[in-house]
Amino acid sequence: MITGTTKLLGVIGHPVEHSLSPLMHNAALAKLGLNYVYLPFPIEPQNLAKALDGFAAIGVVGFNATIPHKQAIIPLLSEIEPIAQAVGAVNTVVRKNHRWIGTNTDVEGFIAPLQLLDRDWSQTVAVVLGNGGAARAVVAGCTQLGCASVDVVGRNLQKLEEFRDSWQDSPLVVNLQIHQWDALPKIIDQANLLINTTPIGMYPQIENSPLEPALFAHLPKGAIVYDLIYTPSPTKFLQYAQTTGVIAIDGLEMLVQQGAAALKIWLQRETVPVDVMRQTLQQQLYQK
Ligand code: NAP
Repeated sequence: MITGTTKLLGVIGHPVEHSLSPLMHNAALAKLGLNYVYLPFPIEPQNLAKALDGFAAIGVVGFNATIPHKQAIIPLLSEIEPIAQAVGAVNTVVRKNHRWIGTNTDVEGFIAPLQLLDRDWSQTVAVVLGNGGAARAVVAGCTQLGCASVDVVGRNLQKLEEFRDSWQDSPLVVNLQIHQWDALPKIIDQANLLINTTPIGMYPQIENSPLEPALFAHLPKGAIVYDLIYTPSPTKFLQYAQTTGVIAIDGLEMLVQQGAAALKIWLQRETVPVDVMRQTLQQQLYQK
């Protein structure tokens, strides 16, 4: 119920209509019985600074930032947490003492399902497919886990080199190599953790996999194959992985856990109803 004292949270993006965050967060807020509402705010890039001023004026408690604002918002904030600095992107902003503070909960979301596995990550070679925005959180996550090295595979050498060079000023010590796509057959047999951060496998490419089926047989024993895509689930990539008996993880838990981490920050709580958030998304995505 919206009342005179309802507090505001939300997500800014352009477009933002597809965002599942309002559904997930409002379900959690309802479960907690808190007088908050989480709204979608479609903000065009040129209106970002105005939107921030407006949010400050109306007392918005905090918000998520999605494409195209994740990088553009950085110079407009008063403070950036080290993890967001390392990733070079902000997905969560909170208002504290009349200041906007930006952080990045995608890293925490990405590593959450991995931390449930009993692993010595120091021997793990991570192979990351793609070098876009999500790959940045994944590289930071693999580094936080303590992986031995991260091999990033991309299709555009110039973008790959820029990606590699961007970590040189990062507070994270990243042991990173870059490769073009045709190097995959040579490195796949060392990929203890293989992560797809490309949109290959998502609608309308649901019949496609970023790794050709024959290569899955070369994965090392006990490998983990992780697709950031959460719909469809499983993607072709994960279906092929499952036939070889490796551990397969889809992107739903990352989505849930990055949201849970953001909600904890805004509400200043140690716990939030993660199960409700997960169930709400599962219902929306898979049980229509
Ligand atoms: P992005 O910034 O556009 O990056 C996409 C990357 O994939 C780029 O490196 C791009 O290569 C590469 N790529 C795209 N199509 C390709 C193709 N046909 N062949 C080879 N490489 C290709 O997108 P993003 O924000 O990182 O998101 C990527 C995926 O992660 C999306 O599917 C998104 O839904 C998912 N995601 C999931 C979560 C979650 O919570 N589960 C969070 C974030 C993102 P170029 O650089 O050469 O263009």
